[in-house]
Amino acid sequence: MRYDAIIVGSGFAGNLLGWILAECGWRVLIVDREEHPRFAIGESSTPLGDMLLERLADHYGLTALKPLARWGTCRQALPQLRVGKKRGFSYFQHLPGKPFADTPAHDHSLMVAASASDASSDLHWMRSDVDAWLYQQACQAGCAGRLGVEVINLQRDGAGWTLTAQDRAEQGGEIEQWECREFIDATGSSDVAVRYLGLNDASERLLTRTGCLFGHFRGVAGFADWLEEHGLADASPIFNPDDAAQHHLLGNAWMWMLRFVDGTTSVGFVQPTSQWGTFGDLACKSARMDAWQILLARYPSIYDLMH
Ligand SMILES: Cc1cc2nc3c(=O)[nH]c(=O)nc-3n(C[C@H](O)[C@H](O)[C@H](O)COP(=O)(O)OP(=O)(O)OC[C@H]3O[C@@H](n4cnc5c(N)ncnc54)[C@H](O)[C@@H]3O)c2cc1C
Repeated sequence: MRYDAIIVGSGFAGNLLGWILAECGWRVLIVDREEHPRFAIGESSTPLGDMLLERLADHYGLTALKPLARWGTCRQALPQLRVGKKRGFSYFQHLPGKPFADTPAHDHSLMVAASASDASSDLHWMRSDVDAWLYQQACQAGCAGRLGVEVINLQRDGAGWTLTAQDRAEQGGEIEQWECREFIDATGSSDVAVRYLGLNDASERLLTRTGCLFGHFRGVAGFADWLEEHGLADASPIFNPDDAAQHHLLGNAWMWMLRFVDGTTSVGFVQPTSQWGTFGDLACKSARMDAWQILLARYPSIYDLMH
């Protein structure tokens, strides 16, 4: 069968585009090297992103998509998805070796509201849930899907493209080939287009020169409670600082904490790439675990939250 479009990448972008194209009557195949549910980073929505999602939903008649754009509607219509409430951005500045401290004028903290109410607020999406759900919606709208295959070739023929992929389940797995009119690289890194079309990879210019170590954790304490216990809580906060994209500022590094309804917290340490070099070979799990503990030990209040 010849498809109107083949999309490589079953992430947020690829699935949503597949869903839209299928609703427009296109015959679409979505291909990915991973299977759902799979881990993905990039969890925190923003007001502009939410508005865009709502516009796409309205424009293409994707009624099931619209609730995904807000905390209130998502909890009501899609309770099976793990999400987190995000009323805005909270920032706390820490000093190494010292518990977090603040002044009455809040010289070391900042709360930036992004929404007026819980119901209309932004949210954090557990990407493993949300990407799997988007894939399911795309398939229900008519997309075909082939997951767990590695793209091994892409060729342009007169009127379109031929994509070749190999099953990853076993060594020397089955090779499959599909043809399409439009080829869409939604791998995030333009992996396929760069590798098989000989395009210049310009992404190096966009890199931020920072690196991060991150994971999903259970049992991370709330910073709002920590502030309360230490007599530092704001008497009338504009929102709970844990219902936020929480930033802990650590000199020239920072840490994010995003809290989800099921008790999972997404935590990541970000610092200049050059500074990670001091932690040895981070390709090795034990080096990553050591680095994590060393960084935590520098900031006692964050250490408290994580233990
Ligand atoms: C540390 C960090 C924090 C971030 N935080 C945020 C945030 O808070 N909010 C936000 O909006 N964004 C955030 N982002 C950005 C966000 O992660 C991305 O913009 C988003 O995930 C892109 O979605 P996507 O669908 O394009 O790609 P992805 O979600 O990366 O999906 C790409 C898919 O392509 C597949 N794939 C890749 N290569 C191949 C191949 N060769 N063959 C077959 N399949 C392939 C992968 O398996 C994957 O499923 C963050 C990014 C990083 C790195």
